[in-house]
Amino acid sequence: MRIGVIGGGILGAAVARHLLSERPDDGVTVLEKEDRLAAHQTGRNSGVVHAGLYYVPGSLKARLCRRGMGLLREFCAERGLAYRRCGKVLVALDDAERARLDRIHERALANGVPGVRLLAPAQLREVEPHVEGVAGLHSPETAIVDFAAITRQLAADAEARGAKILTGAEVTGIRQDGGPVEIATAAGERHAFDKVIVCAGLQSDRVARLAGDGADPRIVPFRGEYYLLRPERRGLVRGLVYPVPDPRYPFLGVHLTLRVDGEVLVGPNAVLAMAREGYGWSTVRPADLAETLAWPGFARLALRHWRTGVREVVGSVSRRAFVNAARRYVPELTTADVVPGPAGVRAQAVGRDGSLVDDFRINRRGRVVAVRNAPSPGATSSLAIAEHLVGELFKD
Ligand SMILES: Cc1cc2nc3c(=O)[nH]c(=O)nc-3n(C[C@H](O)[C@H](O)[C@H](O)COP(=O)(O)OP(=O)(O)OC[C@H]3O[C@@H](n4cnc5c(N)ncnc54)[C@H](O)[C@@H]3O)c2cc1C
Repeated sequence: MRIGVIGGGILGAAVARHLLSERPDDGVTVLEKEDRLAAHQTGRNSGVVHAGLYYVPGSLKARLCRRGMGLLREFCAERGLAYRRCGKVLVALDDAERARLDRIHERALANGVPGVRLLAPAQLREVEPHVEGVAGLHSPETAIVDFAAITRQLAADAEARGAKILTGAEVTGIRQDGGPVEIATAAGERHAFDKVIVCAGLQSDRVARLAGDGADPRIVPFRGEYYLLRPERRGLVRGLVYPVPDPRYPFLGVHLTLRVDGEVLVGPNAVLAMAREGYGWSTVRPADLAETLAWPGFARLALRHWRTGVREVVGSVSRRAFVNAARRYVPELTTADVVPGPAGVRAQAVGRDGSLVDDFRINRRGRVVAVRNAPSPGATSSLAIAEHLVGELFKD
């Protein structure tokens, strides 16, 4: 069979590799619009291998995150890639957050996350001496990696098994009417495949629609901005320090994250991006913005959550407000301790009814299987999502 994979982020690379390990005689081609792999979400995230604390037991997120973590650990060990089990603490600041922490603890146990334990304030300080809170939840298995390096290795493995990885290949048309799936690219090339998997991240709804899939849900791009701790202040954290997330949102709140290169990220926030791939306020694509604003789900979402939206924008334009969010957990942190860092944009699917789609979503239309929602922990889960997608593609 000839199989096309659209998108060269971690999901596309993982799918290509998995396909060829299961079906070594197939022809696999990855089409990536940028001039390199991992240019968007995969190369612009926190680099955290999530252990599976938060997710609804039995959901795709819960199952694929747990399996994905194990597969990723094995893959990094086999290939000599960095995988550092630095652990993470969630910090509760008051009784209401402590109650939410208890519920996350229950979920973590239901999801089979190993080693999680609740911490009293003194125990919290043993794990993270500069962190303060009324309670903590420790997950010693949570790890850090470089997802872009992992993606390049996955793609190299797929190539060694015969995959073609084409960069600068933007898919602009998909036709399927009974016969092979015909793909057109912006450069005027034509490809014919027996089956296609779409892993197009921030463009996933548009590409899925090219294949005849529905308009609902739509991707709404939420930018996440980071600061970096100055090198002399990196000792403020030993591992990963997270707030107790607000259950109304799929985002985890501003956290302090150690990276495998030794940097410490502070962030990300969550503001509406003015372009699907808009990494700063100055990048505006009117067509992207108009599409977001015209989506009925966006108006409903904005009406429900405008207060949070305003707070996030304030944190985006004011370093003081941003740092204040993190200082609640690390009281010694000051605005002088940070410098502006990178930014990423999350592909968050929003339903017509204004709901933020929580679970991973995968749709099938004829010979095309499309990922419609794969936010965090999508990178952690990537090797397990790849197994799942290939299973869907060959279901009947
Ligand atoms: C700020 C931020 C922090 C995050 N933190 C974490 C974390 O700590 N841990 C974790 O597990 N997950 C995290 N995530 C989520 C994680 O990054 C994603 O789940 C994962 O990268 C999704 O991979 P992907 O391959 O689907 O998407 P992407 O990496 O976005 O790849 C999609 C690719 O498709 C290509 N493409 C799009 N349209 C076309 C087209 N028409 N033709 C050809 N190619 C096309 C794009 O150029 C892109 O390379 C975070 C995300 C963000 C943004």
